Amino acid sequence: MSFKQLDLSPSLLAALPDSIKLPTKIQQLAIPIALQNHDLLALAQTGSGKTLAFGLPLLHTINPLLAHIQALVIVPTRELATQVTTALQAISNPLNIKLVTLCGGTSQTQQLVRIDNGAQLIVATPGRLLDLLQQKRLTLDQTKQLVLDEADRLLEMGFWPELQKIIEFIPVTHQTLLYSATLPAALEYKAAQILQQPRRVEAHSINSVVESIEERLYLVNKGNKAKVLLWLIEQNQWPQVLVFISARDSADSFAKKLRKAGLNASALHGEKDQLERQQTLKDFHHGKLQVIVATDVLARGIHIDALPAVINLDLPANAPVYVHRVGRTAREGQTGVAISLVSHGEIDALNAIRKLTARELPLAEIAEFPVTDKPASGQSKRPPRDKQANRRTAKRRNEKRFKPRS
Ligand code: ADP
Ligand code: MG
Repeated sequence: MSFKQLDLSPSLLAALPDSIKLPTKIQQLAIPIALQNHDLLALAQTGSGKTLAFGLPLLHTINPLLAHIQALVIVPTRELATQVTTALQAISNPLNIKLVTLCGGTSQTQQLVRIDNGAQLIVATPGRLLDLLQQKRLTLDQTKQLVLDEADRLLEMGFWPELQKIIEFIPVTHQTLLYSATLPAALEYKAAQILQQPRRVEAHSINSVVESIEERLYLVNKGNKAKVLLWLIEQNQWPQVLVFISARDSADSFAKKLRKAGLNASALHGEKDQLERQQTLKDFHHGKLQVIVATDVLARGIHIDALPAVINLDLPANAPVYVHRVGRTAREGQTGVAISLVSHGEIDALNAIRKLTARELPLAEIAEFPVTDKPASGQSKRPPRDKQANRRTAKRRNEKRFKPRS
């Protein structure tokens, strides 16, 4: 099937970048339904071309002669907003469609100037968008299409209240398109709340990991993770590797350890200044940086061309995040390796991932790093016998600390 057969306008087809020749499976499935103005829940694995699967029908439908915001794309992170903007701008520019990005960490004034110059398509993160809506600095009262990329993330509690408020600014009759690689069963009912008579397409089985990712899971001592990481990088000589860890300060300390060992490594997380975040990712894209140690701000949606390896220094507590982390490699039909270092304390997280992705995911050991940690015994898992007593002591301690000096 060709893009032409998808009934996209000739001007849009002419604007497609040269690298985009044939539609991917999710593009074939989702574009016709989106063009028919149905609400849609579209599920497809990481790296399968979801951005254009929602972007092309939006750009097809937007009228460049009408000077109001006609479509809105919401994404969970600033980095993803930038990436989606770049991908869509390559097509929106030749079509004279004005695209504006709204996200935190960058100058609000500049974003407002761009909006005042006329915006027809907005790509935004929820916080900044809601802020500007509440300040009445932009209006969505003629917006007809809403896309949630990484939809399940936006439906989670962290974003859900903001999202609901944003939707109230959009006219009741609008089209909603949800895209993701994962949708845990527990979030389906929330998706249903914002969709009307939706169609559902699954290009691959839901929550699945791309088959061409070689996943390896190693049981290691908790205290050996830094050593194993260095050893893996040295053994494999990957030109680049993306390392994930859940906590921000651990990302900093592991990046520091790698630099001490002579590697070109940086940390990237939400506490860093936005300019620094941008520069780090840019350096990685340009091959000037060998390792990024990132928190889950980079887990979803971010595309790095031909990234050969992902390493998880821990397993995410939220199982879908595993699918997204490992999905930074082996994109667009390429191959890649994803290695997870698992300590005894993370077995529950591993079991949740096994359950979500319906796979065995066996744990192996590395001969050079024998495991001497013992599994946590039932004993130590038991909560303290009298939690109330602990709380009472803590309270007394606090009261003492804050008592005004007489
Ligand atoms: P997803 O959102 O599903 O993870 P992306 O939309 O980020 O995937 O696309 C992954 C990569 O595939 C990008 O580099 C994009 O340019 C490329 N791509 C998308 N559609 C096509 C296509 N039809 N043909 C070739 N490459 C494509
Ligand atoms: Mg994507």
